[in-house]
Amino acid sequence: MTINSKNSKNLNKLKNVVIIGNGGRENALAWAIEKNTLIKKIFLIPGNAGSERINKCQRILIDINERKTLIQKLDLLEIDLIVIGPEIPLSKGLGDFLRANNFNVFGPGIEGARLEYSKSWAKEFMQGANIPSANFWKVTSFEEAEEIINSSENPLVVKADGLASGKGVFIPETKNECLQAIKLIFEGKFGNAGKIIVLEERIQGPEVSVFALCDGDKYVLLPTAQDHKRLNDNDQGPNTGGMGAYSPTPLITKDYLKKIIKVIVEPTINELKRKKIEYRGVLYFGLMITASGPKVIEYNCRFGDPECQTIMPLMDKEFVVLLQKCAMGQLVGDEKIEVSNKVSGCVIATSKGYPMDYKTGYPIKIGEIDSKDTQIFDSGTRLSKDGVVVTDGGRVLSLVCQEQDFDKVFEKAYRNIKKINFEGMFYRNDIGYQVRTNYSKGELSQ
Ligand code: AMP
Repeated sequence: MTINSKNSKNLNKLKNVVIIGNGGRENALAWAIEKNTLIKKIFLIPGNAGSERINKCQRILIDINERKTLIQKLDLLEIDLIVIGPEIPLSKGLGDFLRANNFNVFGPGIEGARLEYSKSWAKEFMQGANIPSANFWKVTSFEEAEEIINSSENPLVVKADGLASGKGVFIPETKNECLQAIKLIFEGKFGNAGKIIVLEERIQGPEVSVFALCDGDKYVLLPTAQDHKRLNDNDQGPNTGGMGAYSPTPLITKDYLKKIIKVIVEPTINELKRKKIEYRGVLYFGLMITASGPKVIEYNCRFGDPECQTIMPLMDKEFVVLLQKCAMGQLVGDEKIEVSNKVSGCVIATSKGYPMDYKTGYPIKIGEIDSKDTQIFDSGTRLSKDGVVVTDGGRVLSLVCQEQDFDKVFEKAYRNIKKINFEGMFYRNDIGYQVRTNYSKGELSQ
């Protein structure tokens, strides 16, 4: 990345950074931010058992919802930049609150976060700005939904309006299944998040993720990525928070990216501005590449997990400067991000039973892992009373590798992941199948 000094001259000092969140995404951000020699200390609130393995990192175990205590603590730490990782605090207005207390915050306010925490609002936003997306209906009663389902030609995709940890989307094969999903949601499966339902026309095509770092006015794009949402090989099984990813995706050529920018990225940023929403943070576009062009499946108001773990090792040490520029509304817009010429891949190890019920507390053993271009970012781990790192979530850790090509990346990833062990450990064997020439679909089913 080339940031000339002219552009950087108004930036404040950059020594101490806070990252809010406790997953693999936050550890990967810390790992990338730490590379910059300006950085003295990174505080993760609360982080997890893997956080303090990263240079300069320290955990702070306070409740971010105790806002008075949070501010008191932050004031003592002389913080130059706060990065908010997850969507829940963003949707509760933590970004606005911290900005009102004079902190530089990377993460949108409550208005911008609505792009993620209300699917119906996001659909109306896209409709208003002519941004390509699947046709939709917003419904608030079973009867209303039933009428639409019965009059539609094919089964529709059913989505709870609010945040549901990636579990609020149903892709039914029959109209009857549609109605069952609607019943489940309206009966309260997702609480208030299911008071409104969005029904969507089902569209087809490969999915890709595009990320724009925004400062409220300008933006810079990060490398693209492709994740794997289904639990099992061959894209079978239930949707999860993400089982692995790779970056960049060769599916998005330079020309196709130009098209995405023209019909999706810039219209979205312009519409935010038109609505007077000053969006300072990352805008994640979950896209489907359909026969009639790219369409938005969803917006997220934060980095995707595991895409973040996959992309961060490709960033150079100036990445944190970009985050600071976004937080301060000082992007120039022509910053060139100089990313590694390698490609990156990530495989997630999960607890047995995830994304449904699973047990935690199993010790994690890690053998000798390659030392070069290989990272382990803890996602759901904690320290036991005896100081042993144990499992503490559905997604336990992310193993990430970089190499010259994807065949080498995934050979390395799968060779290394075999050196990690905990009871019930599960992972997909076919992450990156789209870009591996040595893999043919179906060959590696578990
Ligand atoms: P979302 O949480 O909205 O990203 O949806 C989760 C997943 O459901 C997406 O990654 C897609 O695989 C799938 N999906 C969502 N909306 C649609 C749609 N309209 N047509 C086809 N698949 C969809």
